[in-house]
Amino acid sequence: MADLRNCSECGGLFVFMGRDVCPKCIEKEEEDFDAVRKYVREHSGASVVEVAEATGIDEERILHFLREGRLISKGLRATAVFNCERCGKRIESGRFCRACAEELDSGLQQSLQDITGVEREERSVTRHGKDRMHIKSGKSFDQG
Ligand SMILES: [Zn+2]
Ligand SMILES: [Zn+2]
Repeated sequence: MADLRNCSECGGLFVFMGRDVCPKCIEKEEEDFDAVRKYVREHSGASVVEVAEATGIDEERILHFLREGRLISKGLRATAVFNCERCGKRIESGRFCRACAEELDSGLQQSLQDITGVEREERSVTRHGKDRMHIKSGKSFDQG
């Protein structure tokens, strides 16, 4: 007796063959995969966001390909799998999106104006560890 299941993609009934997706959706996935692979091959170093926009394919699906190891990760930037810790927006690297980073940065600088000298250094170390770039990013260290 056939093992009938509901497709996890479209919900339709199909005969289970080792995957929880029906043949129709697998076919569609293959098409998507081809499009993604083609784009990545022509645009080495493209981010997931970029590929999603160019191909019209869900970022989730592209990430799924990546997780399955079907896409060569050196073609796609693996760092693209981040979400802003503040607003949840998909970002390519770091912990915050640009808008949040700028906001946090200006807020941080304001609060730091009240803290001086050694205390400032200590706080920045305990609170941010290696991320001290937030405080003096690119600026010279000649004041002190
Ligand atoms: Zn399906
Ligand atoms: Zn954000």
